[in-house]
Amino acid sequence: MSILVLGSGQLARMMALSAYPLGISVQAVDVADNKIIDPVTKQAINDTLEQLLGEVDAITVEFEHIPEDLLELAHRSGKLKPSVESVLTGADRVREKKLLEKLHIANCPFSIVTDVAQLDAAVESLGEKLIIKASRDGYDGYGQWRLQNKADLPKLKEQLSELDLNKVPLVVEKMLQFDRELSLVAVRSADGEMAYYPLAENLHHQGQLHVSVAPATNINDDLTSQAQTIFNKLAESLDYVGVLAVEFFQLGEQLLVNEIAPRVHNSGHWTMHGADTCQFENHIRAVRGLPLGSTKVTSPTAMINIIGCKNFAREMLSIPGCHLHWYGKAPREKRKMGHFNLCAEDYQQLGKSMLALTEYVPAEYFPMLKDEAQRLIDFDTKQN
Ligand code: ATP
Ligand code: MG
Repeated sequence: MSILVLGSGQLARMMALSAYPLGISVQAVDVADNKIIDPVTKQAINDTLEQLLGEVDAITVEFEHIPEDLLELAHRSGKLKPSVESVLTGADRVREKKLLEKLHIANCPFSIVTDVAQLDAAVESLGEKLIIKASRDGYDGYGQWRLQNKADLPKLKEQLSELDLNKVPLVVEKMLQFDRELSLVAVRSADGEMAYYPLAENLHHQGQLHVSVAPATNINDDLTSQAQTIFNKLAESLDYVGVLAVEFFQLGEQLLVNEIAPRVHNSGHWTMHGADTCQFENHIRAVRGLPLGSTKVTSPTAMINIIGCKNFAREMLSIPGCHLHWYGKAPREKRKMGHFNLCAEDYQQLGKSMLALTEYVPAEYFPMLKDEAQRLIDFDTKQN
């Protein structure tokens, strides 16, 4: 059995690592040149793309920004899961917003801008604090601009006037004062069975995910049910197969959708050690038509991204429940180099392990770690 992944980064690698025990091999396409590589060893594989499209049992994606011709080839093979529509929706914020509206799913107030002159009207209707997002090819906060006050609008317009907004429109959103960010990672099988991981709480810094804690603290049944209902609507409407992530802003007791990701997701990496079956294995099971695995939580877990940081000594592995995933990529500023998963018996212990981790890693790359550790310790102390 074999699966072809479009994209050859760390997500393809983690899918491959969880597929092998099931007797499923995974090859990856480097979308820059359509060469085939082993996503774990990064060695070139001699098979051609055409050969593999015919031979493999299923084709999936590790990210949504797949070149059009490659996506079309995969779609035409009849083996692409999730569907081409799902991938295109995740790749295009205008399409995504239209789907959310069609399904009456609460999301962030927005307007679509195809000419910088329309930004004045956007400020009038949404207010002067805005987040402006390129509708395609953005990730990790790239392709985004922030407007803090009206006075900065002329400067921003000048900057944006260099873009071809007819080709790639902007989605202009009201900058929300949300209480926190949560995400739901869940999976739908080919016969429509769903399995949900618990909501994770996500901490961002400069538009990039730094820490996820799962299960999120302070979750009630209503929040879980809102999130799962939204997932069901999206997954059913897209006839989705595989793992789908939904990012939320929580305002009071309401969840608004920020965006969706038609793939395994960074805020689901905690499942590699904190859940019975990890998101990567469940995605592989789903796209291969196998029964889904249990999403039961085995321990509270914190996932801590290693961002822009060069290699370091591995002494932190002495912390009980500390697991490291080092992706083996060339270091670059703001690049995701790897992640830690810290598992513990309860939030008190989890907070203490996170504090212990701060002793081993350079503080400037982990700006959220210490405060979040203390918050978890305080949360647990108050509970007991
Ligand atoms: P990623 O690839 O990490 O998911 P992205 O580039 O796709 O990021 P978004 O998820 O849209 O972009 O935005 C990144 C972060 O910026 C959000 O997680 C949130 O912290 C902040 N953000 C985005 N939109 C808004 C908004 N309308 N109001 C307030 N904050 C926002
Ligand atoms: Mg996001």
